[in-house]
Amino acid sequence: MDIIVLGPGATDKKIQRIVRKLEDKGFTANISRGTERTVIGVIGDTSKITDEESSTFESMPGVEKVLRIIQPYKLASRSFKSEDTTIKINGHVIGGRKIQVIAGPCAVENLPTLLKTAKEVKKAGAAFIRGGAYKPRTSPYSFQGLGEEGLRYLAEVKKQTGMPVVTEIMDPRDMEAILQYADIIQIGARNMQNFRLLLEVGSYNKPVLLKRGLCSTIKELLMAAEYIMSKGNNKVILCERGIRTFETETRNTLDLSAVPVLKELSHLPVVVDPSHGVGKRQLVAPMAKAAVAAGADGLIIEVHAHPEKALSDGEQSLKPEKFKTLMKELRAVAKAVGREI
Ligand code: PEP
Ligand code: MN
Repeated sequence: MDIIVLGPGATDKKIQRIVRKLEDKGFTANISRGTERTVIGVIGDTSKITDEESSTFESMPGVEKVLRIIQPYKLASRSFKSEDTTIKINGHVIGGRKIQVIAGPCAVENLPTLLKTAKEVKKAGAAFIRGGAYKPRTSPYSFQGLGEEGLRYLAEVKKQTGMPVVTEIMDPRDMEAILQYADIIQIGARNMQNFRLLLEVGSYNKPVLLKRGLCSTIKELLMAAEYIMSKGNNKVILCERGIRTFETETRNTLDLSAVPVLKELSHLPVVVDPSHGVGKRQLVAPMAKAAVAAGADGLIIEVHAHPEKALSDGEQSLKPEKFKTLMKELRAVAKAVGREI
């Protein structure tokens, strides 16, 4: 038993009785109230619940049925919640009809460049500004990001442009600072299975952009989302950013089939990062268009006012004018698949 479904007459009292019974047995409850039905997700090792115990829940007042979920992820699964999850951030909805675009440099480097880039991408139609203040670099000798100073520059850009901020957390010790400045917390590919970090971001009510690990399966991505959601934070956005394969022409292999697969298995919004997916500037636009055609709810794209001077990922960063052209092309693709951008 993983889910308890209550009918339209589910009062608070009836819900609380079920929650208490679950808690007595060492489980926690995740309550999701719909217009017609209330669904209680049972959090914990539900394989221990016997069929007899399960039927005692089924006969409680207000309960319509109890269900088992076959997949190892529950809260993230479509069987738990059939309607698409929408996440509202400063007036922008992720997971709705409108495809949301997050754009900006790989790393925050200095305020003037960040501000210039932000103004350009906003004008072209991006809603969110991205930029890492803590960078997960392969070499310890490469630029590691500006830390809190970078977060302050992002805050200044938000103040001047109104754009909500997407930025990466690498260490729970930076949580307080990140919470203060980020509107969406990014969990990078390298930390997708940093379970302590996932539990930490799950403890706050802040949206999380969860990037697929370099060598992770779709199921592992959904289990990582489950870690976050198990702590009560349902605002998870999944991100396909390319996986490692034998192919070397591109930085990674962008797995666009993950988009329809994730949309089938989960109710969570799906965003695609074509920049890290391909690693080469000239390949970003075609894959961004393909991502929208495949049903992505959003895109995260690296754009830099001066890519040749970028301290990280310059080779995959678009110049603002190329980004502007891409946005125009994306509008047509979005329209063709019944969306807008
Ligand atoms: C990034 O967004 O700059 C980044 C480091 O991405 P990923 O974790 O997908 O490599
Ligand atoms: Mn990058």
